Amino acid sequence: MRQKIVAGNWKMNNDKQETKTLIEDVKTEIENLSLENTRVIVAPSFVNLESAVNLAEGSSIEVVAQNMHQAKSGAYTGEISADMLKSIGIKSVILGHSERRTYFGETDELLAEKVNAVLENDLETIFCFGELLEDRKSDNHFNVVESQLKNALFHLEAKDWSSIVLAYEPVWAIGTGETASPEQAQEMHAFIRSIVEKQYNKEVADNVSILYGGSVKPANAEEIFSKPDVDGGLIGGAALKASDFSAIIKAI
Ligand code: PEP
Repeated sequence: MRQKIVAGNWKMNNDKQETKTLIEDVKTEIENLSLENTRVIVAPSFVNLESAVNLAEGSSIEVVAQNMHQAKSGAYTGEISADMLKSIGIKSVILGHSERRTYFGETDELLAEKVNAVLENDLETIFCFGELLEDRKSDNHFNVVESQLKNALFHLEAKDWSSIVLAYEPVWAIGTGETASPEQAQEMHAFIRSIVEKQYNKEVADNVSILYGGSVKPANAEEIFSKPDVDGGLIGGAALKASDFSAIIKAI
């Protein structure tokens, strides 16, 4: 059975003290919830990852990284390797976020290399993808999403998919306050599941968790999460406030 996941992407927010406060507040908010088959994830900045791992220990919160370099080690100033992440207890990495694609030029081809590095290191990835507003307006969104998945993920073997979580994030809905309607999310998630089934098989498609990301808030989470192919959310802005993030967790 596929898992439900609520993941908070903190992006470049929260210093050391703010990280501590937010983890502790989320811990308190969710300590009495029964989170059967549901994962709660936060992705703080690299500099606060280790302290976040320590703070989350013994709770239901998993701490993941926001990015990772594809090389094992070497002359890559400013970058972080899989070994470094593993050495502080990280087991999962967000890849392909639209901000990485837009501001740091990450392409599908580079992301395929990063995905390979994740798998070689027995890590998991929360793999983000999604169309631009112009793609949706020109009715090209299904093609764009299909080619993103094809280029970055469809070289994998079926067995690798137990380490893949998909996060469909229409770029026009990230940080804009504009959310895909629950129907638009369901339509795209069902399409994604159908192309995974076509490429692999029904078991892989049924077991992969597909998260929706893009201006999910306490007010809209329940309706979006009620859709059968939406297995949770990748949350940006609303993950920075413990009460909002925990309200979204409760919605699932
Ligand atoms: C994100 O950055 O992944 C995201 C979904 O952001 P927001 O929730 O703020 O739109």
